[in-house]
Amino acid sequence: MTGTNLEDCSSCRACDLASTRQAVVISRGNPKANLMLIGEAPGAQEDAQGAPFVGRSGRALDQLLRDVDLDPEHDLYICNAIKCRPPNNRRPKKAELAACRFWLDLQLAAVNPKVIVLTGATAVEAILGIKGGMTQLRGQWQIWNERAVMPIFHPSYLLRNPSKAAGAPLDLTRQDLDAVRRRLCER
Ligand code: SF4
Repeated sequence: MTGTNLEDCSSCRACDLASTRQAVVISRGNPKANLMLIGEAPGAQEDAQGAPFVGRSGRALDQLLRDVDLDPEHDLYICNAIKCRPPNNRRPKKAELAACRFWLDLQLAAVNPKVIVLTGATAVEAILGIKGGMTQLRGQWQIWNERAVMPIFHPSYLLRNPSKAAGAPLDLTRQDLDAVRRRLCER
């Protein structure tokens, strides 16, 4: 690592992704929120703009959050398991996830969220160590380090499955996020 504070993350060169990235993508949203959303890795838009979930997937995510009365800028802190874009949007390698875990742990310690949302299988595996299909994992509350954790479909999956029918992935994700909002209100 090149430092021990989150501010040092933007100059990190601890894995090979440093040589192909444009920007280190650290976070957006509210660092004092009770809710933290963790995705997989930056894509092209995120790499260009230096913020997570700002492309089509991010806009879809923001709309879903608003649908359940969660404000994307104030009610949660948004980041990824990996801070630099993997070339051609391939899945992050285990070694890259391991190298970047240092920064994610700093973010978890700084934000200290009561509830965590994990978007997609890579984030679920990175945090919970659970491998499996999101169809089975989504919507099932987990407990990790005394925090409530909700796995949901990744927004990019929802863009490929845009059906608005009841019980379709979009509807299920809205239900999952509504369960998250209700859980936050319990505390
Ligand atoms: S992906 Fe993470 S560990 Fe790798 S260079 Fe970027 S910030 Fe550092």
